[in-house]
Amino acid sequence: MSQKDPEARKRYVAEWYRKNRERLLTYAAEYRANNAEKIAATKAAIHKRKYSSDPDYREGMLAYGKARRKSHPGEVREIVRRSQQKHKDRIREYHRSRNATDERRARVAVNRAVMAGKIPRASSLPCVGCGAKAREYHHHAGYDRQNWLNVEPICSQCHKDHHFASAST
Ligand SMILES: [Zn+2]
Ligand SMILES: [Zn+2]
Repeated sequence: MSQKDPEARKRYVAEWYRKNRERLLTYAAEYRANNAEKIAATKAAIHKRKYSSDPDYREGMLAYGKARRKSHPGEVREIVRRSQQKHKDRIREYHRSRNATDERRARVAVNRAVMAGKIPRASSLPCVGCGAKAREYHHHAGYDRQNWLNVEPICSQCHKDHHFASAST
């Protein structure tokens, strides 16, 4: 075939794939079988990243789960139960480490207060650092219980700068 003729090259590649289809499929299946854990981990990582960063994706997943629970109640309950059983040590460790920290508790308290309408959303306020639209609340007085709602609206950049500059809060 001619290197200069893109159509001929396309045909050649298509022909090659057609001829080697079986071999490619076998190879792919073998790869999947030998790397199941790696593939699952990659998939989980992609899911996790999208779930935390893409609101549309998150909403889609939640809606799907809700619909599935309705149409297949037993199946979903069983999947959740099996997964919790399989990862029970990790789940316990996760909750212990997350709940134990004062910072985590303080953040939960703020989220609750926002949900309950006790304090406005940070995004409706200007950042105390630069005046741009704030994104979150900063616990400027620390994470003790009496200061859980003692917060300042701050943008992500100023928040990062602040926490890098002072290791204290
Ligand atoms: Zn700022
Ligand atoms: Zn902070």
